Amino acid sequence: MSDSNDRLLWIHGEYVAPEDGKYFENYNPATGEVICKVAQAEKVDVDRAVESATKGQASWAAMSGAERGRILVRTAQLLRENCDELARLESVDGGKPIAETPEADVGSAADCLEFFGGQAASVHGEYQEVPGGFFYTRPEPLGVCAGIGAWNYPVQIAAWKSAPALAAGNAMIFKPAELTPLSALRLAELFKEAGLPDGVFNVVQGHAEAGKALTGHPGIAKVSLTGEVGTGKAVMRAAADTLKLVTLELGGKSPLIVFDDADLDNAVGAAMLGNFYTQGQICTNGTRVFVQESVREKFVEKLVARTEKLKLGDPLDPDTDLGPMISREHMQGVLDYIEKGGQEGGQLLTGGKRARVEGFEKGNFVQPTIFDGLSDDMTIVREEIFGPVLSLLGFDNEDEVLKRANSTPFGLAGGVFTKDVQRAHRVAANLDAGIVWVNHYNLTPVEMPFGGFKQSGIGKENSRRAFEHYTRLKTVYVAEGDVDAPY
Ligand code: NDP
Repeated sequence: MSDSNDRLLWIHGEYVAPEDGKYFENYNPATGEVICKVAQAEKVDVDRAVESATKGQASWAAMSGAERGRILVRTAQLLRENCDELARLESVDGGKPIAETPEADVGSAADCLEFFGGQAASVHGEYQEVPGGFFYTRPEPLGVCAGIGAWNYPVQIAAWKSAPALAAGNAMIFKPAELTPLSALRLAELFKEAGLPDGVFNVVQGHAEAGKALTGHPGIAKVSLTGEVGTGKAVMRAAADTLKLVTLELGGKSPLIVFDDADLDNAVGAAMLGNFYTQGQICTNGTRVFVQESVREKFVEKLVARTEKLKLGDPLDPDTDLGPMISREHMQGVLDYIEKGGQEGGQLLTGGKRARVEGFEKGNFVQPTIFDGLSDDMTIVREEIFGPVLSLLGFDNEDEVLKRANSTPFGLAGGVFTKDVQRAHRVAANLDAGIVWVNHYNLTPVEMPFGGFKQSGIGKENSRRAFEHYTRLKTVYVAEGDVDAPY
């Protein structure tokens, strides 16, 4: 049964109830309380969303790029005008500190809509003269695209997927992670307020089943997923049946390499950002922190001292640095990794436990944790934990650290701290990763292509490169002379 507090599906510009009348509960990870019930989409609802999106896409693609762009820019303005409300929504739904959400979530989503809104009128093909005539190319929209999101950056992911898709003339059906279903619905309302035609952005909620219904649907041309490596493989396999295009933004175990000439305070700051921001639940995190032996002791001292000052607490308190893990199950998974780290011989420098926060006794809080005394083959050094757990590793020279840094099936990101400009570029060139930061970590301006190598993903989000993943290129040959047939 549904009640007035329940969140429904968003199809064809309005809220609609699911055909089967099924709902799931959505929890506040800081309090453990139910926020609301959320409609669960089944295949029949996904069919309805695809039918609507097909209609919406036809009228949307017929509009000029400039007209489409104006609506995206207007949506960005509305996001900024409603920033406080949206930031609060993200903090309540996902446990993210309110010190982060206005900029890293809402601001990042608005930046992306603004960027692609501005670019929408400039999607163009090429012209070239060739023997007998000339050809030109037409980048055409793919049609209806599906976006499937993870729970760590809900509104940002919804915008990173929908903005380039819509700017290029596609419609998008977005499925948020079941743990963070709220902000995509608010984004849908703001799209409508900005003038987006009905059906161009639909939201279906639900578990993996809803994702599977999208991935297998013959009416959908492309799937863009942000999620775990295993989910990426499942989506790619399922997409093969209808030969859908895929963009996959998956997990990582990225290296952050600190050479002995680095500014150590900056390097420590970056290591903390790259391990504890959003409670460590960030795909690109530099969770393997390699520090050159000659500065290791100094680095560790600074790192531990600054980490022990971090404040865990109410996500809505502006002084809070770390909120709760997204769910009880996820918290348990992180704690299991910490236990394993100890069992395999890791030396705990700080943290390592579930944290009790007064007034939030049911919250899923985990202390920011640092392990030393590790070797590259230990479980916590190899596997993605997706929590506030930093692995410290020492190294002697550049060749050695590069070999070790690249010795992973992941290839999402990496960072290098050094004042030696030649070494910085050499290391950047030799890291087997899709994104490398020099003397910083985890900055993702929308102008910059974003995406991983190896098992961390396929394709790029953000930047003009994203258009390549949301268009199909038609080639038109035009003859200038007669047809010289030999028969
Ligand atoms: P999951 O892979 O568990 O889920 C991602 C989304 O896929 C969810 O909406 C999920 O639905 C859906 N889903 C699950 N199974 C299927 C399936 N078989 N077919 C279609 N859809 C499916 O990831 P998490 O939400 O747990 O997010 C954490 C992961 O995401 C980490 O590995 C992290 O590294 C990665 N990530 C990658 C980023 C990148 O840009 N590279 C950025 C952020 C996170 P439901 O939640 O309802 O089960």
